[in-house]
Amino acid sequence: MKPEAGAYEALIQFLYQSPIGLLQARPDGEIMMANPMSAQLLMPVAPGGNLLNLFDALQTVAPELRAQTAALGESNGVICEALRVPVAHPRSLVKALDIRLLKLDADTLIASVSDATAAALDEQQRVASQLRDATRTDSLTLIPNRAVALERIEQALLHARSDAAYQFALLFINIDRFNRVNASLGPGVGDELLRLIAERLSSTVRLGDVVVSGIAVPSHTQTAARLGSDEFVVVLEGLRRADDVHGVAQRLLDALAKPYGIAHEQLHLSASMGVVLRAQAEGDADAVLQDASTAMRVAKRAGGARYCVFEPQMKQRAARRGQVESDLRRALAQGELFVVYQPLVDLVGGACSGVEALVRWQHPARGLVPPVEFIDVAEETGLIAPLGAFVLDTACRQFAAWQRQLGDGAPQILSVNLSRAQLADAHLPELVARSLADSGLAARHLQLEITESLAAQGESVQRMLHRLKALGIGLALDDFGTGYSSLASLHLLPVDVVKIDRSFVSQAETSAHHRVLIEATVRVARSLGMRTVAEGVETAGQADILAVLECDKGQGYLYARPLPAEQAQDWIIEHLR
Ligand code: C2E
Ligand code: CA
Ligand code: CA
Repeated sequence: MKPEAGAYEALIQFLYQSPIGLLQARPDGEIMMANPMSAQLLMPVAPGGNLLNLFDALQTVAPELRAQTAALGESNGVICEALRVPVAHPRSLVKALDIRLLKLDADTLIASVSDATAAALDEQQRVASQLRDATRTDSLTLIPNRAVALERIEQALLHARSDAAYQFALLFINIDRFNRVNASLGPGVGDELLRLIAERLSSTVRLGDVVVSGIAVPSHTQTAARLGSDEFVVVLEGLRRADDVHGVAQRLLDALAKPYGIAHEQLHLSASMGVVLRAQAEGDADAVLQDASTAMRVAKRAGGARYCVFEPQMKQRAARRGQVESDLRRALAQGELFVVYQPLVDLVGGACSGVEALVRWQHPARGLVPPVEFIDVAEETGLIAPLGAFVLDTACRQFAAWQRQLGDGAPQILSVNLSRAQLADAHLPELVARSLADSGLAARHLQLEITESLAAQGESVQRMLHRLKALGIGLALDDFGTGYSSLASLHLLPVDVVKIDRSFVSQAETSAHHRVLIEATVRVARSLGMRTVAEGVETAGQADILAVLECDKGQGYLYARPLPAEQAQDWIIEHLR
């Protein structure tokens, strides 16, 4: 049916004015009809601006169309639907085209060409925003990353500047002893664990809406993010009251302390947390984060599984520790450390049965520095490894020399202290074996001391203790009575000697209660085939009571202070067995 003259005019008008390029071509591409818009759109892509043949015009941007059309053969149908092609021409405002091509019948191709610049830009922006998301998401746990955390802190600081009543808090979280999990179970399990931790933090934070002011709470007001390794932060923006942070902190710690079912095991973890409140927040986001991390380290030093609220003095203390660290590095390199020896005596008879090696530091400016002031720092910084090796080596050599010199009457046991970090080092047994071999000291003369609280910790410590015992050396439980384990669990520990802490011994004369505890310890230890040493014996009265209570040995100022090697040797010679 032929259109009426008026309608035909209208169609031509429509084609002329259409914002879409419309054209008709023969199956070989020869263009029969093209409206002005199609010419305008195709001109920039057509080689030489030549619009005689559709396939020639699209040759550089859609070369496949000619073959696709030919492939249709006798049949008709859609050749392409919204083929997006770029427009490279530098002066063209149109940057992309959408092309549709249809074979209508044996003689006719119909094409539409439209400006896809806006759609292409949208697409570009979508991809860019996805990329941006990737730079804001932690790839392992899929929670927000450090960049987001800093942004949230910055936002809170900004808000605080304009609103005196505004409260916020930053919680810095570090998993306790995470390295051990990684080392003992493998990094795969470590990664899985980090994902579970991230999940718990995020969901706990999400449930925490009660602490936020207002009714319509934007989701970003509480953000859990991962900074890296086993460190996370939670930013609480818009707290109702600063005090509310205690509840949130504890809830997060509780959530993290629930067992993790992983690799067919139930894993138990705890975390240390540092909290910075608005009132203490100073400087930029980085500075606040740093302060939160300082408070976290205070929590960790206090034994972990807790949170500490940042106080400005912590910064000074941290700086002092930093000073100790660099001093200690130099001390190790320049031989400022040395070992002193405190005799252990038989409570009956008074002969010297052994010595405990204790480290000392002759600081060029500060004088003699006691170990309590640097052992912790050495632990935290990894300096304990060279320090511990130095003490063990020096003491083994010295003790072997005394044995050669003094013969049968020489003291039999050299006791050396082990720290937490040394015990966590899988190579410790080899190190000990090497010290013994290098010094020529027989394993049965060496005894390593570990504190009660250390020994009570978990399976990996137990495994290490058994590996050490397998070397043929002895183990002593240091500071007994101050830690977590009790007399009832003493039989679980593979130790030969129990050292009763000074806090019990010092009250032996005045407190019946302490006497009973000492007696009970001696009895239980005996029944398990362990010997007992009383630490910090200062008076003859204490020594008498300890002898009556059948404690085996004593160590303390009553007999001798820790002495440098030469003086220790003189003392030993006077007290040969
Ligand atoms: P510890 O292992 O319990 O050592 C006994 C501490 O008590 C020593 O303090 C010793 O000087 C002190 N002491 C001994 N008899 C008496 C006494 O009668 N009265 C009083 N008031 N104190 C007495 P020191 O040498 O300052 O060592 C403190 C702690 O530092 C040690 O406690 C030990 O835990 C650690 N430490 C010392 N040397 C080393 C070391 O080479 N490696 C490691 N990992 N830790 C060490
Ligand atoms: Ca000790
Ligand atoms: Ca002790």
